[in-house]
Amino acid sequence: MSATIIDGKAVAAQFRKEIKTECEALKEKGVTPGLAVILVGEDPASHIYVRNKERACEKAGIRSTVIRLPEDTAQQELEETICQLNEDPEVDGILVQLPLPKGLNERKALALIDPDKDVDGFHAHNMGALVAGAPGFVACTPKGCLKLIQSVCASIAGKEAVVIGRSIIVGKPMALLLLNENATVTVCHSKTADLSAHTKKADILVAAVGRPEMITGDMIKPGAIVIDVGINRVGDKIVGDVCFDSASEVAGFITPVPGGVGPMTIAMLLHNTLESAKRRA
Ligand code: NAD
Repeated sequence: MSATIIDGKAVAAQFRKEIKTECEALKEKGVTPGLAVILVGEDPASHIYVRNKERACEKAGIRSTVIRLPEDTAQQELEETICQLNEDPEVDGILVQLPLPKGLNERKALALIDPDKDVDGFHAHNMGALVAGAPGFVACTPKGCLKLIQSVCASIAGKEAVVIGRSIIVGKPMALLLLNENATVTVCHSKTADLSAHTKKADILVAAVGRPEMITGDMIKPGAIVIDVGINRVGDKIVGDVCFDSASEVAGFITPVPGGVGPMTIAMLLHNTLESAKRRA
């Protein structure tokens, strides 16, 4: 293996330490950062994610409140809950845990969140700000990926960056973040004709597809920075979208799965909540 591993846990731990210090300073000014999470239904994975977010908030000194709603919650009740949190001066960040149970309109619900409290960065207002290169909340996973890239790359400007995946929560915002850093960005997706022709040119490669180990070493440019966003369960193992063994023979830097992007996603949620509380202060 030649690649240096980008230790997401360590980078995230450093962020969390700094966030904790800033939260303490804010508390001295009488402002305790607050995150409200709306959890609808019984999806087991969502319950685990929300518990992890609660724990992370507690450690950082952020007050977290989880509003648990039953599986059969009506759209109107969900929307009223969001509106109440919009008005609550102690709530700096609002997060609706996705996916919502069938029958609930995700897009409508997310659109109701006050953009100034949209710490997940999914509101069209914040997406638009990203397109415009204006300040706003950036979705936590791509924001975390950018921090990981910056942890090993002093200047992204002029680099060839390839993002695989064009979802609204990872691929598209990731491409925009890299573009805003002056990379030359290519977005690949399910209809891309010759994927490896693109990936082989990438100085920075971000894989956000959800297909186990589809990116192999022969698809990677020697020395590239490889960020693996994928989380795929294969038997009792979790693997990424990148075949770590072959890719790490070629890449210069690579994130492991688990222990790469995942820890950064939560750290960036804390970061966004802190930023919102700082505006309130
Ligand atoms: P998604 O299903 O919304 O999007 C997948 C994208 O991959 C699509 O844009 C599609 O066009 C593209 N795609 C599908 N097949 C392809 C192919 N053969 N070649 C090229 N592109 C192809 O998924 P998502 O929500 O963006 O998530 C992607 C992965 O990242 C999943 O494994 C998910 O679990 C993981 N994820 C991880 C974190 C984290 O914190 N680590 C956060 C969000 C998502």
